[in-house]
Amino acid sequence: MLAYYALLRSVLRAQPALRQCRTRCRHCGIFFLTHPRNAGREDLRCPFGCRAAHGRRQSDLRSSAYYQDLAGKEKKRALNARRRKTPPRPLPPTPVPEPLPCPAPLLQYLRMVTSLVEGRPVSLAEVLAMLRRAVRQHRMVRTRRIDQIIAQLNEHPP
Ligand SMILES: [Zn+2]
Repeated sequence: MLAYYALLRSVLRAQPALRQCRTRCRHCGIFFLTHPRNAGREDLRCPFGCRAAHGRRQSDLRSSAYYQDLAGKEKKRALNARRRKTPPRPLPPTPVPEPLPCPAPLLQYLRMVTSLVEGRPVSLAEVLAMLRRAVRQHRMVRTRRIDQIIAQLNEHPP
């Protein structure tokens, strides 16, 4: 959290124009950057979960009736199929996507912020490559640190 605010502060220091994009989540109160088209709005929710949770709630409300209807139709279709004794068609295999390093809304947020900071459209692929690089580096540093601790323990056993 502290690291996040430190980063946000340094981004705003480097790009003072982005200050007007800083807003506060109306749900959890965290500060975040919003797209310039939403600058000045104070009714937004953060991309760290509140927006998704709110969207889910809204779409649950909207679609529960729809899905109830759909479920009814599906059941009827299955019954009819059984009556006709036709084996259900096998579903085509779904490709397994590479796991994302963080939730999709967060990726979109990072993409927007990186685009704003760099002043050019940054693609999702670039954000993913950047994140994977950062994770690899983080892992390498951590491994080095663990190696150092083990080496020290070997030299000076407790
Ligand atoms: Zn929030």
